Amino acid sequence: MVNLGTEIDQVRQWIAAAGRVVALTGAGISTDSGIPDFRGPQGVWTRNPLAEKLSNIHYYMSDPEVRKASWQARMDHTAWSARPNAGHLALAALEQRGKLHALITQNIDELHQLAGNSPERVIEVHGTMRKVVCMSCGMTAPMQKALERVRAGEDDPACRDCGGILKSATISFGQQLVPEVIDRALRVAGEAEVFLSVGTSLQVYPIAGAVPAAKAVGARIVIINAEPTPFDDIADAVFNDSISMVLPRLCDAA
Ligand code: NAD
Repeated sequence: MVNLGTEIDQVRQWIAAAGRVVALTGAGISTDSGIPDFRGPQGVWTRNPLAEKLSNIHYYMSDPEVRKASWQARMDHTAWSARPNAGHLALAALEQRGKLHALITQNIDELHQLAGNSPERVIEVHGTMRKVVCMSCGMTAPMQKALERVRAGEDDPACRDCGGILKSATISFGQQLVPEVIDRALRVAGEAEVFLSVGTSLQVYPIAGAVPAAKAVGARIVIINAEPTPFDDIADAVFNDSISMVLPRLCDAA
């Protein structure tokens, strides 16, 4: 069995020698900020399989009751009071060291930007919950403006420009990903010298394909996730440990 400290030192050396580190993050990096993941042991879908149905675009567009429930869930979301944790701050420190080429995230909470990563380096493949988009005319606006209307009594606020259905600017199930965003994410993965996969079960495609894309160009693959992932076999280092404990040490931010 490899000693944890030795394995951490090894990854620190890879990062020290690398010009381009690319990170891919998932819901697991935000659990220590109080935002539950979907598929971990305490995940939203693990505890309540029906919640997955509420994330489906077809139910959202066709059923006003689903939209009302979604607005209530948005109001009550843990993200509004969440702060970046040591894992987010470690990736911000990596950028300050000039090492971070890009940060691909499946998260919609914007905690990376709040931690100090530059927005132009963060690639949000599933959008952001801090904005709304009109499903008819494409108008976007801050989520908090829409939530003010819900608090004032509108249970399903419509677009003020065209009357269309408003939704958080995230990618729901059944909705198309944005091809340019996915292309950019897979392109930067193919430019990595070290690739950090952090807090993601790597079950969602096409973005899970970023791991083999980085491997194909010879990047060192480092996986930090409490549970095993389908890509552990091709990784150069795997840490089944707490992200806020391991990531600051790997990034020299502890
Ligand atoms: P996932 O729920 O499929 O997997 C998260 C993984 O993180 C799990 O394997 C879990 O074991 C691990 N994990 C959780 N906390 C950890 C910790 N503190 N230390 C180490 N490992 C930990 O998440 P995913 O792969 O990101 O896919 C879920 C989808 O749901 C994403 O695409 C995302 O859009 C969305 N989502 C986002 C948020 C958010 O923005 N914070 C939260 C929930 C879901």
